[in-house]
Amino acid sequence: MLVELIASTRFDAVTFQEATGFQSEPWTPSADLLAEAAGRQCYEAWERKNPATATNRGYLANIIDHQHFSVLEHASATFLVHGVSRSLLAELTRHRHLSFSVESQRYVDQTGREPAVPPALRGTDMEGDLHAFHAEAVDLYVQVRNALAEQGVPRKQAREAARAFLLNAQPVNLIVTGNLRAWREVLTKRYHVAADAEIRELADEILTHLRCIAPSTFQDFGDVIGNEEIRRAA
Ligand SMILES: Cc1cc2nc3c(=O)[nH]c(=O)nc-3n(C[C@H](O)[C@H](O)[C@H](O)COP(=O)(O)OP(=O)(O)OC[C@H]3O[C@@H](n4cnc5c(N)ncnc54)[C@H](O)[C@@H]3O)c2cc1C
Repeated sequence: MLVELIASTRFDAVTFQEATGFQSEPWTPSADLLAEAAGRQCYEAWERKNPATATNRGYLANIIDHQHFSVLEHASATFLVHGVSRSLLAELTRHRHLSFSVESQRYVDQTGREPAVPPALRGTDMEGDLHAFHAEAVDLYVQVRNALAEQGVPRKQAREAARAFLLNAQPVNLIVTGNLRAWREVLTKRYHVAADAEIRELADEILTHLRCIAPSTFQDFGDVIGNEEIRRAA
């Protein structure tokens, strides 16, 4: 699995200061500043009168505490994701506030790729079985695609039919964008012990990136959600 942050919102602190007089805290990441600016806009609160909310981190802690989440919708983050399973794709696309551009199996040839191996199979004999089964599935895909093409079926239609022989583990590449509120929603459900292990890995990678571009916005995300309770109970 490859997960790269390829775009994120830039806040123009100079223009904002010229318009409002608000002096943003130096060295604060753009996405966090934009959320603070949006929150302060609501109350025209350009001065830092309350010590508890004087810092960007304190301000956004208060925003999160009060569930004033709409201010987190202004900044967004876009990820390039390669080599995840089709099962993961089905789960991720359930999140209605994310935007997707997904490689088409009708246009893109599906040969020459390794399967997305579920974490529980890695390093076991079953990982070898999955690779063998995947290779057989891809062989069938090629046979069916070629047979249909020989019958005069156009290439796109031949691929769309042949893909029925591919596995859930067939890897897929995509670009996905979400605003920071949407990413918080996704992480609440997918960076969680109850979530599928592969999507939890994706959530972990995404959270690592988001913590870099918006540490205050994700300050309340700690360990995988639910892990703490499990450890305490053990
Ligand atoms: C562990 C786990 C197991 C799952 N198992 C299954 C399963 O077996 N079968 C299955 O079909 N799905 C399953 N799902 C998917 C799940 O039901 C959700 O579709 C998915 O997690 C997306 O979350 P969401 O719908 O809460 O929010 P999102 O689409 O991410 O939206 C975020 C939030 O916006 C609000 N919202 C969005 N749309 C609406 C709306 N139309 N009306 C009201 N409020 C809205 C809600 O507050 C929602 O929580 C599972 C998810 C998890 C995490």
